[in-house]
Amino acid sequence: MENKMYLALIIIGAPGSGKGTNATAIINKYNIAHISTGDILRDNVSNNTELGKKANDYMQKGALVPDELIICMVEQRINKSDCENGFLLDGFPRTIEQANALDKLLDSKAKSIDKVINLVVSEDELMGRLLKRGRADDNEETISNRLSVFTNQTSPVIEYYSKANKIINIDAVGDIEKISDDILNSI
Ligand code: ADP
Repeated sequence: MENKMYLALIIIGAPGSGKGTNATAIINKYNIAHISTGDILRDNVSNNTELGKKANDYMQKGALVPDELIICMVEQRINKSDCENGFLLDGFPRTIEQANALDKLLDSKAKSIDKVINLVVSEDELMGRLLKRGRADDNEETISNRLSVFTNQTSPVIEYYSKANKIINIDAVGDIEKISDDILNSI
């Protein structure tokens, strides 16, 4: 897909699966915008915006921020001019409602998701990685909550894109460069 004018990608995977790290390699190659809902939310929390105030409690517990807040936030972001070549969504959609809203939004622009990169990592490995990372919401209790939220709410999203034949499964354990090569070669 080297010469495509507009590329709409999603990177999906459990907390700790390496979405952020691998996202950087992808956006650099395709010159598309990186839309990380976690990063946008954390910016809002540190700037104490209305959205940040509403989101903070959920984030501290490792729960999902309500769909309507997230969907509105992503819509605004996708409409910005740096998305003219397309975008890579990181951390969104995390629920079927979010996936449906995204489809509708892209439909209204006569666009659609091209590919969904699914980073596959075992649960033991994830816990170890997150405890080492040490972000504010990376304590054992919050992590197990985020992992079960992922299993319950986000796994159906993988199934959804799988039915649409858009999923690329990537074994995301091992050498970092090999993983990002696998991703870039598969898009
Ligand atoms: P991780 O994948 O390690 O959990 P993120 O930075 O993607 O990290 O998300 C951190 C937190 O931000 C989540 O636990 C959740 O509270 C909130 N969040 C991020 N994206 C979404 C989303 N699409 N829907 C609901 N909540 C979200």
